[in-house]
Amino acid sequence: RRRAAAAHAQAPAMTRDGVRIEVFANLASAADAGAAVAAGAEGCGLLRSEFLFLDRAAAPSLTEQREVYSAISAALEGRPLIVRTLDIGADKPAPYLPMSGEENPALGLRGIRLQLAAPDLLDVQLRALVTMEAQGPVQIMLPMVSEIAELRAARAALEQIAAEEERPCPPLGIMIETPAAALHAGVLAAEADFFSVGSNDLAQYTLARDRTNPHVAAGLDALHPAILHLIQIAQIGASRHGRLVGLCGGLGADPEAIPLLIGLGVRELSVSAGSAAQTKALIRSLTLEQCGTMAEAALGLPDAAAVRALVRAELGKIV
Ligand code: PEP
Ligand code: MG
Repeated sequence: RRRAAAAHAQAPAMTRDGVRIEVFANLASAADAGAAVAAGAEGCGLLRSEFLFLDRAAAPSLTEQREVYSAISAALEGRPLIVRTLDIGADKPAPYLPMSGEENPALGLRGIRLQLAAPDLLDVQLRALVTMEAQGPVQIMLPMVSEIAELRAARAALEQIAAEEERPCPPLGIMIETPAAALHAGVLAAEADFFSVGSNDLAQYTLARDRTNPHVAAGLDALHPAILHLIQIAQIGASRHGRLVGLCGGLGADPEAIPLLIGLGVRELSVSAGSAAQTKALIRSLTLEQCGTMAEAALGLPDAAAVRALVRAELGKIV
């Protein structure tokens, strides 16, 4: 029985009507890649590269980064690896970064903004990713994009580095975690190779609730219908250019969110390794039609609680 369950965890997840939903893992270190594969992850949908940069006096060198990314790719044994470039800001200071105290770090110099303000740092990270030993496909993902100029600047740097190193240019995608990126997705998709919804920050910025503030974070539910609308708009924009939409925020492992995300057109979910098997199991119990009907209904509901009640009731009839 244990062997059968393990084989099932490794199998791809299809809906009952045969639509493949990729289930990837979020990783935050080199050590957890092997465990994620064992748990059924089909790749890494979000490598939070911050772990390489925090709690140290100097930024990691080109060689160090290259070795760590190569080791993670090796542990994934040919499966895809999506590396998010450095996503820190004034709330997680590092002595070698151009940061000062900020009144409002969530709206400050962070994510792609910080990287463009520290081009040497971005150069080293992109160069490590372009020259790493890849055992499988490697894709690069930019955090906190809100302006197409940010994507263009990062792509120009990446193309120049790839040319200098005489290596192919990896696909470059963006996170959809600001309302601007979601609303403007149709234009961004012309130049971004893929999207991944960061539902944690998308909820924070859409609902204007600081995710780190205990007084308001409890009311932060990414199943608010306003956020479902933003994901729908992002998906429509992406599909205009044939781009895939994944999701790597906490919503991806939430059973009450999974049918809605599939119904809205999300085709890759990146979750914590421990949630991969149960996420796949839920996907296998659904049809695309059920998901679409639930998503359509959810968009018209008054609040997140009503959305959750709807999905619970529908899942009660299915599983
Ligand atoms: C997100 O914002 O949903 C996300 C995946 O990124 P992080 O949680 O690292 O900000
Ligand atoms: Mg985020």
